Amino acid sequence: MASSIVIVGAGPVGLLLALRLAQSSLPVTILEALPEIANSPRAMAYLPVAVAELARAGILDECRRRGTAGRKICWRRLDGGVIAEMERVGVVREKEEEKEGEGEGEGDRDGQGEAEYENLVLGQQVLAEIILKRLEGLKGVRVLFGKKVVEVLQRGEGSAEGSVVVVTQSSDGEERFEAAYVVGADGGRSSVRKLIGVEWEGFTWPEQLVATNVYYPFDKYGYYDANFICDKDHWALIAKVTKDGMWRVSYGEPGHLSYDELKQRQPMKYNALFPGPKPLDYTLTMWSPYKIHQRCAATFRVGRVLLAGDAAHLCNPFGGLGLTSGLLDAGALADSLIARLHGTASDAILDVYAATRRAVFKDVVDPMSAANKLRLHAYDGDVDSLGDSDGFLQLVKSATREEKGRMMVEGVRGLRVDMRGFLEEAVAGVE
Ligand SMILES: Cc1cc2nc3c(=O)[nH]c(=O)nc-3n(C[C@H](O)[C@H](O)[C@H](O)COP(=O)(O)OP(=O)(O)OC[C@H]3O[C@@H](n4cnc5c(N)ncnc54)[C@H](O)[C@@H]3O)c2cc1C
Repeated sequence: MASSIVIVGAGPVGLLLALRLAQSSLPVTILEALPEIANSPRAMAYLPVAVAELARAGILDECRRRGTAGRKICWRRLDGGVIAEMERVGVVREKEEEKEGEGEGEGDRDGQGEAEYENLVLGQQVLAEIILKRLEGLKGVRVLFGKKVVEVLQRGEGSAEGSVVVVTQSSDGEERFEAAYVVGADGGRSSVRKLIGVEWEGFTWPEQLVATNVYYPFDKYGYYDANFICDKDHWALIAKVTKDGMWRVSYGEPGHLSYDELKQRQPMKYNALFPGPKPLDYTLTMWSPYKIHQRCAATFRVGRVLLAGDAAHLCNPFGGLGLTSGLLDAGALADSLIARLHGTASDAILDVYAATRRAVFKDVVDPMSAANKLRLHAYDGDVDSLGDSDGFLQLVKSATREEKGRMMVEGVRGLRVDMRGFLEEAVAGVE
């Protein structure tokens, strides 16, 4: 059996998976359709449970240097009044013992220390760049840009000698790459998922989202690191992205509006959402509309092909659960493939990956992220009563400062699957 792995997609999920595999001396090829890493305003906030995965891959120190922590969040009315707030407090232990070069840098190798981590705020393209740079020095790694995957062929299904061939198209013409396993980490519109015939269950929301990056002094008006604006018409997230004063303002818009109509409405939306005197003085640096979805692949595995990240599941971005879940997929899949290809687990470990990660999405991420969005605009009655009628906000309001701090960590602990339990107990038998 070939021992190499092909990963389709150089998004943060594919790259993190590749880094973990390469650190375990497994040969890995990444095939990316674009000529370089995508640079659209998407993920910026990662929850502590996913930050632990960055520590396991030995890149957290660098991520911290380039990002911020995002400690204080709140839910506000459109006039700026705070409905409820929480802050990450308590002791933080974030130590990485990195070995440079090919070594594994894993300050929290067992992944059990996520309670000790803070949120991380960092643009996902910066995260991708950090991982890409780290991959450059590692043996057996190829990252090939401009290669669009158009075909996936499974050979000798079920046999130990089986393999998968991936066909790409590029300016070099058609090329073939053979691997023991292929991972589709190629985003929400995943070609791999379509090519292996997996159904894309769920729905698209009737609203759309406009994500913008803007320089504006929200700090001056008492805005916290992340501010959810609850309002039936002007619901939004206003969150600090960089230390030099760039903020992400993402707001909801009716689904029927065209690209041009959305663009035209941007100054009106800012006028409604921003504190401070008018006319507003701001510098808009990025503007991008997105459809928003709650969707999940019917299975995360078909034969030797596995799905991870947005290719496997999509949720609306309120609450930072999308890439957070994707990074946790990457961690669990890395553990599973390493055990499988180093001969310490049978092929069944990959079924466990597929079933457990799918269950996490269906049971935790999907309902939690949907509630995060609906809380902003679909509440009953007046926004002033939201803090008393919404169970989650009630909890936030009644908790002590320390309890809130723990909630920010423990409320999302269920997103992680520790594959070690399955390796040791369920499928330790090697074929
Ligand atoms: C506005 C917005 C804000 C968000 N904010 C957050 C947040 O704060 N926190 C959070 O956790 N999540 C957030 N998300 C979600 C997050 O952006 C995604 O979960 C994340 O991008 C998924 O990473 P990925 O690597 O799985 O896929 P992607 O980042 O989509 O990468 C997939 C890659 O595959 C490539 N590809 C596609 N097809 C092919 C093919 N046929 N052949 C080769 N390559 C291919 C693509 O070019 C792309 O580079 C947000 C999303 C949006 C839209």
